[in-house]
Amino acid sequence: MQETISRILEKENLTKEDLVVLLSANEADTELIFKKAAQVKKKYIGNYTYFRGLIELSNICSKNCFYCGIRRGNKNVHRYTVTDEEVLKACQYALDRDWGSIVIQAGERQDKIFVDRVEELLKKITDLSKDKIGVTLSLGEQTPEVLKRWHEAGATRYLVRIESSNEDLFYKIHPQDELHNFQKRKQALIDLQNAGYMTGTGVMIGLPFQTLEDLADDLLFMKEIDIDMCGMGPYIEHEDTPLYEYKNELIPLEERYKLTLKMIALLRILMKDVNIASATALQAVNPDGREEGIRVGANVIMPNITPIKYHSSYNLYKGKPEIVPETDNYIAQLEKQIAEAGDTVGYGELGDPVHFKNRIK
Ligand code: SAH
Ligand code: SF4
Repeated sequence: MQETISRILEKENLTKEDLVVLLSANEADTELIFKKAAQVKKKYIGNYTYFRGLIELSNICSKNCFYCGIRRGNKNVHRYTVTDEEVLKACQYALDRDWGSIVIQAGERQDKIFVDRVEELLKKITDLSKDKIGVTLSLGEQTPEVLKRWHEAGATRYLVRIESSNEDLFYKIHPQDELHNFQKRKQALIDLQNAGYMTGTGVMIGLPFQTLEDLADDLLFMKEIDIDMCGMGPYIEHEDTPLYEYKNELIPLEERYKLTLKMIALLRILMKDVNIASATALQAVNPDGREEGIRVGANVIMPNITPIKYHSSYNLYKGKPEIVPETDNYIAQLEKQIAEAGDTVGYGELGDPVHFKNRIK
């Protein structure tokens, strides 16, 4: 088997069949995949890891995704919105530490109050950071007009996970209605690219009904759409969601974790110069999960800089509140581990995806 894996890893273009074989590799063979991914990372983007301070702006959401703990239908959630002052304080924290960027994430809202508020907030952040901080948004699907306004107000990157590129699977994990539409979600990625954003997507790994073929297709989907950034994480069931019903059909969490590391490594091999985040959900499974992600090809870590009082309410999945708060000590520890994984933290740099620079050339 080892020979087959080595032979596939030498190919210029990986097919779906190749990817399925790689995704099925046993532990010893997987080390070959990780090694190759680390080489590709070193060659195409260098051994740098960028910190993005994550601000979970609000858990108010108009959608009802079947997997997510903050879905509209979950009445057991205390809804909150972080104030502008608190966001600016968090930005200052990132600036003081020379981190090149922040990510603003929230439930999806398309109402005018929210859209206007985000626009004003972005202007304040731009004033504060004087372009020393790149702002990534993760605020769900928006109209091209809204995307343009937010871009002009200072946001340069945007993440919309496709969640699964298999349309049938997409509708097993979302309601089938106007608000949850596969084609629209896909179009959102094109709209982002057209609006000039560095565009990111991603999927959940280990979803009920998901096969290795689906995951191979997800990787090829990202290549075809030509994304600049990716965030992938294990699916972690949440008891207050409809998908919880299938908890006994899931592969063990440890397997979902290992599969996520494989997906990160394979995307690195496939797309070479994109930014890949080592998702927070990895850390929810294994305290060293995000550092492992760095070792196998990821180059972005998103420490949570949301004020701590809100943490337990942004509960997308089980186990998230148990995560250690990102205190100064913790960050120092993270830096040490990044160094151990062979990387340097890219302080004072925006850390734009090299892929984007090559894409718009
Ligand atoms: N509302 C925005 C951004 C916030 S949700 C959006 O949906 O685009 C951010 C991501 O959290 C989602 O894209 C999804 O992939 C992930 N997520 C939600 N529930 C999850 C769960 N139970 N396990 C793992 N990841 C989950
Ligand atoms: Fe809302 Fe995003 Fe959760 Fe879906 S995944 S319910 S859009 S926060």
